[in-house]
Amino acid sequence: MKTSFFQYTLPELEVLFKENNLVPGLPGKLFNWHYKLQNVGPYEEDISKGAKEFISQNLSFDLPEIDTVHESADRTVKFLFKFQDGKKVETVLIPSKKKYGICLSSQVGCAMKCSFCHTGLQGLERHLQTHEILGQFLAAKQWLVKNRPQDSHIATIVFMGQGEPLHNFDAVKGACEIFITRQGFSMSMEKITISTAGYLPGLERWKAEMPDVNIALSLHSTFKEKRDELIPINKAYPLDKVLEIVNQIPKTKKRFVIYEYLLAKGFNDTYEDAKSLGETLQGKRAFVNIIPFNPFPGSKYQRPTREEIDMFKAELDEFNVPSLVRFTKGDDILAACGQLNSKAL
Ligand code: SAH
Repeated sequence: MKTSFFQYTLPELEVLFKENNLVPGLPGKLFNWHYKLQNVGPYEEDISKGAKEFISQNLSFDLPEIDTVHESADRTVKFLFKFQDGKKVETVLIPSKKKYGICLSSQVGCAMKCSFCHTGLQGLERHLQTHEILGQFLAAKQWLVKNRPQDSHIATIVFMGQGEPLHNFDAVKGACEIFITRQGFSMSMEKITISTAGYLPGLERWKAEMPDVNIALSLHSTFKEKRDELIPINKAYPLDKVLEIVNQIPKTKKRFVIYEYLLAKGFNDTYEDAKSLGETLQGKRAFVNIIPFNPFPGSKYQRPTREEIDMFKAELDEFNVPSLVRFTKGDDILAACGQLNSKAL
């Protein structure tokens, strides 16, 4: 059986090639060809017959199939990708000026069961492999080159699609390593952000193992009862402990930890909530993304009004904690945070 080329980090590919007595420089060349030059077809350059044969017999270059594509009025693109076993995930291209950010999924469904999240209600079907994470990027890029040749640059990556990335640590780490490899995409680490619900076993591994990409923590409430309701893993992995570990993750000087704060009307948008959030983050290298709740069919929370959102932000400003309200893109096609699902809607 063939393995996907997109499964291998560069050191792993080097080992594979060495074991098969192939010339040492080849894996770097292949990375350059497939990732830097972004030619996702099989390798065409002048390489030895033996190497070509090895590649064609052992490696596949298949990408996930596009099941459906939705284009929003604001240029957001939502893909439903289908993998070989028929499982599907969503991936979103989020426009900013002439570039895009891509929102990748790390699992089919999610095991975290957050009460406000469309994906969470679906449960976990399976983890994605590294090549399936890479495949979302490459297939979305191919679509852009074909359909929007004038602006097809993907500048940033966020792991904020379906799934809890740290619950699928190895595959996500492998994908990050491939994204930052110099001979490959050569993406800088601060262009990649992994968002977590606070999955402690993954955060503990992060310290030692993860490349220095940005970390975003879904905070949503500093009060135990409310956070327990919103993010049930808070019961097993309490916020104090999570914040402690997050603060131990080494970061280069300029970088901030991003704290996401989902704002649900009448639930976690009071002055008490803002005050407690401000007090918790004051003096830390923190940046808060306030995400007004995005409704989906059957959801139990409500989105606050514009005035309520502005009021919450103003209250947080009193504590000198920098923040931005993330007004959503693509919500006309259910492509906003927490609206992703594995079924075409
Ligand atoms: N599992 C990761 C990634 C989830 S999606 C995590 O929990 O961080 C990225 C962000 O969208 C998270 O902060 C998540 O809490 C938020 N989110 C999920 N559902 C939402 C919804 N319906 N409205 C607004 N934000 C939502």
